[in-house]
Amino acid sequence: VSFEDLKFNRQILNAIADAGYTEPTPIQQKAIPPILNGQDVMGIAQTGTGKTAAYVLPILMKLKYAQGEHARAMIVAPTRELAMQIEENIKTFAANTDLRTVVLYGGLGPKKQIEQINKGVDIIVATPGRLMDIYLAGHIVTKTLQVLVLDEADKMMDMGFMPQINRILEVVPVKRQNLLFSATMSDKVHNLSSNFLEFPVVIEV
Ligand code: AMP
Repeated sequence: VSFEDLKFNRQILNAIADAGYTEPTPIQQKAIPPILNGQDVMGIAQTGTGKTAAYVLPILMKLKYAQGEHARAMIVAPTRELAMQIEENIKTFAANTDLRTVVLYGGLGPKKQIEQINKGVDIIVATPGRLMDIYLAGHIVTKTLQVLVLDEADKMMDMGFMPQINRILEVVPVKRQNLLFSATMSDKVHNLSSNFLEFPVVIEV
């Protein structure tokens, strides 16, 4: 399977080539078709497998261009480092589009992050605590969300972020696509997946 076979548009294929990726990794080969298809996906994959591009690429393909004011995709990740890495990936692959990404994390004041959101955003990447803080302050509209990703879900649970994740799940539209990535498949992850995912395609690499 090549990236061309995965039915990406020219803008994305050019960005993939510019990034020097010649062929999709196993998680990308397995996860991209069902994500493009609109299905929920649970991916059991470690960092280093290419899991980020496995969901970033089809999300960019679905969103295509900037639209409206409010986010259509939200990616939640356990740490500032991972959130920044995900944003980097998005910037790389969205280089030929006008899609707008904002990354939200703690450790510095929220003012700049809120200003960026208010300019209009297509994709939010965030750590759970800061995401909930900015949401509760009234700066995030969730009704336009189409895709929600929980990345490194096992780590988020180990770090005690379940209350924030549950709050997020309460305020997002019922009809949405859910993607859950985890390095391990524990009982906790299994429980989360049964609350979060609907008829998921399960992929293990
Ligand atoms: P990740 O597992 O998402 O953290 O990705 C691990 C590393 O693999 C990152 O440096 C990616 O840029 C790189 N990578 C992801 N997919 C591919 C691919 N299809 N070809 C070459 N490198 C890739």
